Amino acid sequence: MSHPAANTSSFMTDFLRQAGGVAILDGGLATELERHGADLNDPLWSAKCLLTSPHLVRAVHLDYLEAGADIIITASYQATIQGFEAKGFSRGDSEALLRKSVEIACEARDIYHGRCREGSPDGNNDGRVLKHRSILVAASVGSYGAYLADGSEYSGNYGDAITLETLKDFHRRRVQILAESGADLIAFETIPNRVEAQAYAELLEEEDIKIPAWFSFNSKDGINVVSGDSLLECASVVQSCKNAVAVGINCTPPRFIHGLILSIKKVTTKPILIYPNSGESYDGDRKEWVQNTGISDQDFVSYVNKWCEIGAALVGGCCRTTPHTIRAIYETLSNRSAASLSSQ
Ligand SMILES: [Zn+2]
Repeated sequence: MSHPAANTSSFMTDFLRQAGGVAILDGGLATELERHGADLNDPLWSAKCLLTSPHLVRAVHLDYLEAGADIIITASYQATIQGFEAKGFSRGDSEALLRKSVEIACEARDIYHGRCREGSPDGNNDGRVLKHRSILVAASVGSYGAYLADGSEYSGNYGDAITLETLKDFHRRRVQILAESGADLIAFETIPNRVEAQAYAELLEEEDIKIPAWFSFNSKDGINVVSGDSLLECASVVQSCKNAVAVGINCTPPRFIHGLILSIKKVTTKPILIYPNSGESYDGDRKEWVQNTGISDQDFVSYVNKWCEIGAALVGGCCRTTPHTIRAIYETLSNRSAASLSSQ
């Protein structure tokens, strides 16, 4: 797709219009890489595969595109220059690995478009969605806590030594590299607190970053982000960032999503994205979300239409979701557009 720098403000709304109102994100990367045989027992987590098995990363991206994803997220969540350097890589090699995460996703997109040209034009091919459409590559940036690999992206407590300035310095070079890598946008994911969102927003401005970004927070109580900071304040930081083209929630239990969308809506005019974790299903008798026993991991899919009705415009899955989850979201949304067309 042509480069969006000229008009960030309409970048996402134009894309959403082309996608029929709602765009589909991909699903979990780590679990899928493991299913393809990757060993992720490493502080670099899925970033390790950039080194050891780029073909698996590309295969997972392709699986998601063939499941109907309109946006694929690169394997750079835990890829940081500092993390690679700690493994003994030079600065140059570390930066090259970051670029590689985007190259792999772009290759998957090219291969996918080739398959679309060869496939049957009217839809499904052996269960694959081969429909030529605009596909975005979102360069993932995980939080400082993700780099620590100690779970602190789920507490948001970085300690007093970590300030706005140290966070900006930590992320600066990675954001610069990814912005020049050929990605269509940056995905700031699993943001656990307000100060990190502020750091990203200021970095985009200070470094005059030419591609847009989305900001996605995580919550463990359905009210605040995981650090306890107010979601409304966090989303307001994003609202005033001119490079931000969407704001939302990821890596969060499905039962909280409805309320979180309603909260974010109070303070933003930007498109709202949600990509919850799987692992819970809705128990209609008990009227609550419960931990799955392992039978179905995609019950949240039946709530996707509801979430879109109240304002979600980009929908996908985070941890433990699979191409099956994304395919089910694709089917649900296709049925919805078919239904709304036939009722006109
Ligand atoms: Zn997750």
